[in-house]
Amino acid sequence: MKITSLRTFVVPPRWLFLKIETDEGVSGWGEPVVEGRAHTVQAAVEELADYLVGQDPLRIEDHWNVLYRGGFYRGGPVLMSAIAGIDQALWDIKGRWLDQPVHQLLGGRCRDGIRVYSWVGGDHPSETADSAFALVEAGFTALKMNGTGPMQIVDGHAAVDAAVANIAAVREAVGPHIGLGVDFHGRVHRPMARVLLRELEPMRLMFVEEPVLPENQDALPSITAGLSTPIALGERLYSRWDFKPVFEGRAVDIIQPDLSHAGGITECRKIAAMAEAYDVALAPHCPLGPIALAACLQVDAVSHNAFIQEQSLGIHYNEAADILDYLVDPKVFEYHDGMVRIPDGPGLGIEIDEAAVVRAAETGHRWRNPVWRHADGSVAEW
Ligand SMILES: [Mg+2]
Repeated sequence: MKITSLRTFVVPPRWLFLKIETDEGVSGWGEPVVEGRAHTVQAAVEELADYLVGQDPLRIEDHWNVLYRGGFYRGGPVLMSAIAGIDQALWDIKGRWLDQPVHQLLGGRCRDGIRVYSWVGGDHPSETADSAFALVEAGFTALKMNGTGPMQIVDGHAAVDAAVANIAAVREAVGPHIGLGVDFHGRVHRPMARVLLRELEPMRLMFVEEPVLPENQDALPSITAGLSTPIALGERLYSRWDFKPVFEGRAVDIIQPDLSHAGGITECRKIAAMAEAYDVALAPHCPLGPIALAACLQVDAVSHNAFIQEQSLGIHYNEAADILDYLVDPKVFEYHDGMVRIPDGPGLGIEIDEAAVVRAAETGHRWRNPVWRHADGSVAEW
């Protein structure tokens, strides 16, 4: 079997899909994208296609090594997301060729389903509390919300009080036993992270995510000393080597590699295994589309340390389209009691509605991060 083509589709709300075709009529789908840089990743996929066309799609490990090591320069969000989407599509092809789900080829699933969490929208305490309550009514047992708005490197206690009030309103609305994650989104720097984490300690949070930017992770031991709230990060790390200091630093409890940013199924499986040796949990990042989510579930299926899965249904970013819009059978992502079942179909376990993808690609998107500024005009982390 030989790879004959790699075709990419820029689709709303902010995604990039990839279809890899073969001369045996089997094809596979991947989702190589960095939010806000879809066209850049598309160009990287196109460059990598020069090598892949004509190759045997089943030799995934070798292709991964060529794409990663063979270009001399390596790592980073663009290249590793391009490799990730290609890797997902190759696993999809292998599964369809052998008529087995990817998790079966990785050793067989060690769980039947996994708990999912939903994003809480809203900017004000009453809005966030209402939206959190509605999600719990809809059956979710775990939620995640943003922790703060823009926060300067040293900010006032008005900003701290506003953040705490917002999170407290949600905790009060959903009760003490709903899993509640709070994402600082890298908006907070070391001095305020220490203050905020202490203020939030009584809220019994499931985790605090990116309490500082990953490049400042060396500050974590001093920020978290004496606190018990689990610390999560990893959506902006792209390989085993990026995760190495996370494990060695011993200050992170949950890693969140993104199956579309960190080298795909091949790499994230290995990152998950590294985490297990440090007694660190896995909760793959996935505010992306249906192919990325399906890839996450394949890795969750075979990772004993996976405990929860992010998913983007109803997420505030995705106004133009949702994860179910591109599926032939959206039932594959039906949630019951706050859980999703591990898909059991061949490959990634989903059927992409190609006609819907082609139609959506005619519109495409130019999605960009908002650019935030502080009151003094300086740029704020979003
Ligand atoms: Mg995050």
